[in-house]
Amino acid sequence: MSPKDLVYPVFVDARAKAPQAIASMPGIHRQSLRAVAKEAGEVADLGIPGIILFGIPEEKDEVGSGAFAKNGVVQESIRRIKEVSDVAVIADLCLCEYTSHGHCGLLKGARIDNDRTLEVYGKIAISQALAGADMVAPSGMMDGQVAAIRKALDEADFEELPILSYAVKYASAFYGPFREAAEGAPKFGDRRSHQMDPGSAVQALREARLDLAEGADVLMVKPAMPYLDILATLRREVDGALAAFQVSGEYAALKAAAANGWLDEEAAVLESLTAIKRAGADFVLTYFAKEYAPRLP
Ligand SMILES: [Zn+2]
Repeated sequence: MSPKDLVYPVFVDARAKAPQAIASMPGIHRQSLRAVAKEAGEVADLGIPGIILFGIPEEKDEVGSGAFAKNGVVQESIRRIKEVSDVAVIADLCLCEYTSHGHCGLLKGARIDNDRTLEVYGKIAISQALAGADMVAPSGMMDGQVAAIRKALDEADFEELPILSYAVKYASAFYGPFREAAEGAPKFGDRRSHQMDPGSAVQALREARLDLAEGADVLMVKPAMPYLDILATLRREVDGALAAFQVSGEYAALKAAAANGWLDEEAAVLESLTAIKRAGADFVLTYFAKEYAPRLP
């Protein structure tokens, strides 16, 4: 494990005047637009090659228009980061942080309208690419999202821009703290209709192959620690780069146990990162990246 294997998740809140601590994720902050470039610069200085950006817009609406606004929070953050740093910026691509109802797609009645959502995803991808994103990472789990985004990017002359697909995203209890961080909890219902059942392994392989066929450049498994078997299976069975996301609940659990003196934090964190890499991840998205990069060779 080395800092080069890490990607650091960064939240940017358009409404924040200064970085704000996230109670359930000790040490992690929601950045302000003013602070985000400095944060990205610090990450780059630690030898971490990339960040993944999540935005919290000034305002939310039915269709999540903040997600593809030219001066949207992610687009503006990317421009500010690129002025001061060459750290690679992966832009999370979804609607749940931007819609008033908190769902990942546009609604038709109480259901998600998959096809109209794909059109919007294409618009988001182009706006992020224009702002300078190095990679887009669709996380909404709509059917056909990778193909739709690939097509939209190609038509806008971004043929080279890679797509990191959240191909294997389980419906997990470990996302809890993220919802506080990103304020993205659905106002009604849940996301089980488009996230995978924790008991299913076969579906993971099918989704991974589907996303590769649609043009994904990197496949992500999320969460990481509870799904190392899935990561190892993908490593064996599919070609393509693999990422694993050690999610907010994994971070919070380790931090809480360490704070109580129940775990040796440093040993447990380094072991967890090593295990994720051993299972097959080419890179690990983790909230520990910034704190632990200096402790890695
Ligand atoms: Zn979403």
